[in-house]
Amino acid sequence: TTVTDTQVRVRVRVAVDAPQHSGLSEPLDYLSERLLAPGTLVQVPLGKREVTGVVWPHAEGAAGAELDASLLRPVSSVLDGLLPLSASWCELVSFAAHYYQRSVGEVALSVLPPQLRLLDAAQLLARLKRMTKWLAAPPEQVPEPMRPELSGDQAEALLQLDAALAAAAHPETAGPPAPVLLYGVTGSGKTEVYLRAAEHALDRGQQVLVLVPEINLTPQLEARFNERFAAHRIVSLHSGLTPANRLRNWMAAHLGHAELVLGTRLAVFASMPRLGLIVVDEEHDPSYKQQEGARYSARDLAVYRAHQLRIPVLLGSATPSLESWQRAEEGRYQRLSLPRRIGGGALPRVRLFDMNTLPRAKGVTTVISPPLLDALRERLERGEQSLVFLNRRGYAPVLHCTECGWKSGCAHCSAWRVFHKLDRTLRCHHCGFTERVPRACPDCGNQDIAPLGRGTERLEEQMAELLPGARVARIDADSTKLKGALETQLNAVHAGEVDVLVGTQMVAKGHDFRRITLVAAVNPDGALFTSDFRAPERLFALMMQAAGRAGRDAEAAARSEMWVQTWHPLHPLYQSLRTHDYAAFATSQLAERRMAGLPPFAHLALLRADARTPELAKAFLQAAADWAAAMPEARQVTLYPPVPMSVARVANVERMQMLVEAASRGALQRLLWHWLPELHALKREHKGVLRWAVDVDPLAI
Ligand code: ADP
Ligand code: ZN
Ligand code: ZN
Repeated sequence: TTVTDTQVRVRVRVAVDAPQHSGLSEPLDYLSERLLAPGTLVQVPLGKREVTGVVWPHAEGAAGAELDASLLRPVSSVLDGLLPLSASWCELVSFAAHYYQRSVGEVALSVLPPQLRLLDAAQLLARLKRMTKWLAAPPEQVPEPMRPELSGDQAEALLQLDAALAAAAHPETAGPPAPVLLYGVTGSGKTEVYLRAAEHALDRGQQVLVLVPEINLTPQLEARFNERFAAHRIVSLHSGLTPANRLRNWMAAHLGHAELVLGTRLAVFASMPRLGLIVVDEEHDPSYKQQEGARYSARDLAVYRAHQLRIPVLLGSATPSLESWQRAEEGRYQRLSLPRRIGGGALPRVRLFDMNTLPRAKGVTTVISPPLLDALRERLERGEQSLVFLNRRGYAPVLHCTECGWKSGCAHCSAWRVFHKLDRTLRCHHCGFTERVPRACPDCGNQDIAPLGRGTERLEEQMAELLPGARVARIDADSTKLKGALETQLNAVHAGEVDVLVGTQMVAKGHDFRRITLVAAVNPDGALFTSDFRAPERLFALMMQAAGRAGRDAEAAARSEMWVQTWHPLHPLYQSLRTHDYAAFATSQLAERRMAGLPPFAHLALLRADARTPELAKAFLQAAADWAAAMPEARQVTLYPPVPMSVARVANVERMQMLVEAASRGALQRLLWHWLPELHALKREHKGVLRWAVDVDPLAI
């Protein structure tokens, strides 16, 4: 819309990073001296600040609203020199913002490289020049990469993929290609299928986006892409890069120079003008869900983006999310299976050890059952490696006084502080509050305070006691805090310098440990009985993944074992695990979910409120619920009463949440869309409420 003043000036919409809570969720209007293409980066005044914004396309049909031009402020400067972001990129961001109930500008600015906001036009030009130099260095002449001959299953999967792609090339007769669920156990050749599909896309002159859960945990995948595509430009995008490298890599993708982008969840927003294929590896992994700000699921956005661009998306997993599995069952996703391990390697034999059969000494629980200990010794004698995992770091989850019952609670959270023996501290894993371990019980002075339960630190110590002479190492978030530590420790394992590796879920993921022939879960039962409805799904995935660590070497596969110490050996989850039967597990879980009205058979959102007292948080949520109840959009939606979060108090803030449930996504979205804007005013009436937020499709409730 042009506005005539003394000179011609143009009204432009600019998405700026105005927080959702300001109520400014849509792009703002500014005046420009010249036409600016949507997707152009600009500097604009916002209140007293100068901020970076993105010129936004006019919403269809909404362009005509009359505005007094004299009320609009002018654009301060234009970041010329950077190719504008595409209309489809803006559309993806708009969709994400609306779906996850955040402001368009907040999402747009938070997914661009942070440095982009700090540069002026001249600095940007300098960067582009430097990048051109970097790009000009041609990939050296590289030899043709070795490509294995495809197995029958792999060839079939690729054939189907190409057929779907060919069909989608005729929009008049076919819709966009259906998302492909590539279902195959560890070692079944999924990565090779990604590589070939990527090759096909590159041959068509397109770009490829590969998403991985955590870049540190997938060095082998990265190495294989680098090896196969040495003649192509590959860049990575994740939060661990230096700001300068992140900007450089992002620009290389944006300008179409980078042909492959390998990244974590934030890379789903990478600007790629010729994007032709998206791969989501380990699509079930919880780290695809952002847990703050715009709480988006990169997996779901990848599916959206592929649909939007009419390109294929490959979702790979040995244990797909139940959402994806259900969609495949319904025929909405195309399921391609790789049912066998390459080279015919067997999956490790699963042994469920019934802890009830152990004689029980009073108050003493056995860490490692005698038969498991024998199995570990056998590996040791044969010079093979074992992996023992326990999903809890620290020495013990709590210290207690044997006299008066005092426990090491956190003063600021409703949680215990974990005992870390190495530096003799009590640490709160929620707020970080750390103190030295007291010499005596703070309540009664008793000197006999003892650890309760066990974490990886204690397990490491116990393993060393039980297996004298064994080289025991531990990998968890504590042991890998320093930069490069994880790599060093993994290298030691690969080099055979470790006999027994103790670790958390970190070691269960991704790594290709050739010499491990025994994997043991010492105490996994906890996940069977929590209120978290996704806990069994996560446990099953983790155990299958852990099992996949053993027997990668076909020769060793025959004697590879996965041990599970459990008090509930007959639990259906373990029975499915015993036969590596994900499909059976999924079927039974989905039946439970259907009965309980949980995803994927219902759609959920959580409204959360933080306040100084639980009463204040609750009152706000209750008032919000009362408001919703009067809305027509609430008729197809169920609002549950506010409840404290599972860790209710963190850093002296009380946290409550309210579950919102609907049978259809549309009904849920319609309610949120009309309801949430009202909550800004409501919060102002509830003085003690610090903040509120909504989580659409939450992982846990
Ligand atoms: P996944 O991604 O399912 O774990 P990979 O693609 O990593 O499986 O394959 C497992 C192993 O088998 C890898 O070492 C890989 O190089 C090898 N491999 C994959 N496909 C083939 C094939 N068609 N022929 C021979 N080896 C293969
Ligand atoms: Zn005491
Ligand atoms: Zn705390």
